[in-house]
Amino acid sequence: MGGNSAVVVGGGIGGLAAAIGLRLAGWEVTVVERVAVLDDAGAGISLAANGMRALAALGVGEAVEAAARRQYTGGTRTPDGRRLSLMDGAALERELGAPIVGIPRTGLHRVLREALPAESLRIGAEVTDIDTSQPPRVRVAFGSTTLDADLVVAADGINSRTRQRLFPAHPGPAYSGSTVLRAITRRPVEGLTTDFELTWGHGAEFGHIAFPDGRAEWHAVLNAPAGVRYPDPLTEVRRRFADWHEPIPALLAATAPAAVLHHDVHELATPLPSYVAGRIALLGDAAHAMTPHLGQGACQALEDAVTLAAAVAGERTVEAALSRYDAARRPRSQTVARDARRAGRMGQQLVNPLAVGLRNAAIRLTPPGVMVRTVLKHADWTPPRIAPRTA
Ligand code: FAD
Repeated sequence: MGGNSAVVVGGGIGGLAAAIGLRLAGWEVTVVERVAVLDDAGAGISLAANGMRALAALGVGEAVEAAARRQYTGGTRTPDGRRLSLMDGAALERELGAPIVGIPRTGLHRVLREALPAESLRIGAEVTDIDTSQPPRVRVAFGSTTLDADLVVAADGINSRTRQRLFPAHPGPAYSGSTVLRAITRRPVEGLTTDFELTWGHGAEFGHIAFPDGRAEWHAVLNAPAGVRYPDPLTEVRRRFADWHEPIPALLAATAPAAVLHHDVHELATPLPSYVAGRIALLGDAAHAMTPHLGQGACQALEDAVTLAAAVAGERTVEAALSRYDAARRPRSQTVARDARRAGRMGQQLVNPLAVGLRNAAIRLTPPGVMVRTVLKHADWTPPRIAPRTA
């Protein structure tokens, strides 16, 4: 396909990555993003080997690694500090050829945005209409502007209006039963010796992701009814996790009250029947928002982006490319989403003391090799090559 143009709706991780990939495929791309500062700019993210491989395929792997910290040490613990499992990030990196990293979301966004020419980003513009009445072109309206494109990538997040429009019978996002409070510490954390850790209590999880400068993101995930809010979220987290092991108190002590973000966790519990319709492709959370219990949502969005770009580069028509994209991405991302839900039910969300005890005993008895294979199941992914056709 030559001389093609795409509009990407949404400049989150998925949308920016898709734009980078489509440009590598030789396309002209415009990204339309409604907000200048992202909702979760004050949070961090961990990227597993599959996400890092996707970023490398997009040509930004080294830049992301330079802004990130490799996650070598840590694992899972119980609130009194006893170890359930050890993470060996170096072994995983050897196995997969790419590291697991932790990075502030703003750092990841900066790298992705810098990989695109400034004129391809329309920040502060909200897409209000996608007109498909004159095929094969799709007309996208934002502000007082309209753009005609050969392809629209809807990377407009979990509450995607494009998805609602394409699949009006789909029930949309469902509440997962978990609410998450998180923050990045304002200073390096004393005594923080592990890169990445999760601690499971009864219906509660506390985790951290360390950054290169010694600061860290922590997250506290709680079973709660949807919509619960606290007048002083940091005080509430300190109360709930008061007797949990170090470095949890140290992480909370290094946090400014205003830094705490609070979001309810929703997911697309009902899988979509397709990620494409006509010349529109859904990508990232718009297609398969999943719970964060495997830390795979953004990694899957990055896989989507590379797969879409490779399909567009390799096929003769947009229709054939989108069909290839849907066939490659839907089974994998929906399996990861299902496994993330299960991981939450067996991990953070588990409340019954007997079930928690059995779960913990099972983890302690699991040989390290089996643990590694469980991680590999999601993180072992080889990106397709983005190679523009020459004829
Ligand atoms: P979004 O980031 O939601 O981006 C959508 C963008 O579209 C937004 O910027 C929005 O403003 C814009 N938009 C929407 N509508 C319009 C419109 N009409 N016009 C213009 N712009 C529009 N994933 C991991 O891989 N690792 C992790 O460690 C991890 N941790 C997580 C922790 C938590 C607590 C949560 C909730 C999620 C976590 N995830 C993680 C998942 C990850 O954050 C998401 O999967 C990822 O950010 C999705 O990116 P996206 O680009 O698809 O959507």
